[in-house]
Amino acid sequence: MARDFNKSFTQQEPLPEESLEAAMKVLKHGRLHRYNIVDDEYTETAILEREFGSSVGRPYCLAVTSGGYAISCALRALDVKPGDPVLTNAFTLAPVPGAIASLGAKPILVEITEDLVIDIDDMLQKFEETDAKILVLSHMRGHSCDMDELNEICLDRNIFLVEDCAHTMGARWNGNPSGGYGLVSCYSTQTYKHLNSGEGGFLVTDDENIMASATILSGSYMFYDRHIAKPELKYFKKTRLNYPNVSGRMDNLRAAILRPQLKMLESKCEAWNERYRIIENILGANTLIGLIRRPEEESFVGSSIQFHLKVKSGSKVKKFISNCLERGIELKWLGNKDPQGYTSRYDSWQYITPQECPRTKVILSNLLDMRIPLSFTLSDCELIANIIVEEADKLS
Ligand SMILES: *Cc1c(COP(=O)(O)O)cnc(C)c1O
Repeated sequence: MARDFNKSFTQQEPLPEESLEAAMKVLKHGRLHRYNIVDDEYTETAILEREFGSSVGRPYCLAVTSGGYAISCALRALDVKPGDPVLTNAFTLAPVPGAIASLGAKPILVEITEDLVIDIDDMLQKFEETDAKILVLSHMRGHSCDMDELNEICLDRNIFLVEDCAHTMGARWNGNPSGGYGLVSCYSTQTYKHLNSGEGGFLVTDDENIMASATILSGSYMFYDRHIAKPELKYFKKTRLNYPNVSGRMDNLRAAILRPQLKMLESKCEAWNERYRIIENILGANTLIGLIRRPEEESFVGSSIQFHLKVKSGSKVKKFISNCLERGIELKWLGNKDPQGYTSRYDSWQYITPQECPRTKVILSNLLDMRIPLSFTLSDCELIANIIVEEADKLS
């Protein structure tokens, strides 16, 4: 049967010409390893770290192999030990509890609110119950809680805040770049995020000791002086022999293709939001569709959209998804008990201590998610939203 929409929801834009040229240069000289230099050159990786760090207003930045690696590296640098409780949102992607569990630490799941952000009351209660010292705050699907309020709570109670900005690179809260609050903040440059190097990530901080430890942990051997966005060398003297090498360095090829993309990030974010607003406006007019509130302080990046389908049963949600799919529209059900593709509900992470987050479960029970790749035109977005609305109308 002919579909109404034929483009792929997982096809990103091709990389810019400048990225191809920069990649060829690295491939031709062959020095892909970040510490492989001639004379006193600074490598693509070291320069990218400086550029990314300054783009989010942070002095220290480390480029690594993935967003998940950045989170686990941050936790190691914060001296998280096996068995330590670490709080995180119940609504996030699998690499987040995965990073915590990779250290043998215990993910403690915190409920979310209707805005899809961490529930601060539940968080405070769980900090009391567990004596945890660390929060890995996931800005899942680009939704941020009140960062000024959260930051104050963390400073007040000596909670170490690690921000997971996989979906908020380029976003802001109250004018501050996302990732500007965390003691350590982590980003991903995996293909489906806002910069694309296939795999990759960053960790940023203002803290000299954390940065020195993270750099040693990432596998810098004794070449940390070849970094630019680094603290003074005296900080490495304290840590260089005390942290294991858990190799996770970025290489110069990925850094080379990322640098031109970083320059374009702002205009890409605008392009995402243009598409997001078109879809949001059309969906918002339908009574069976419930949109997520976006607070005024939040300048988000609309690289995906979430909405509630106001029906009572999971089987109706499934039917709606399959009707949309037949017409070429790919939606993900965030409340699905069975993990599918990239999406999994918290209770499918069976390697962690079983925990119930009943309010989160209710919120996710009819929550749908759709990617908005920039390979879609504005009229594609209009068409997609109209199809979704037509299918919703058929339910009533
Ligand atoms: C993608 C993602 C990460 C990290 O992903 P990597 O694939 O390890 O780069 C972390 N958190 C969230 C919410 C993500 O979506």
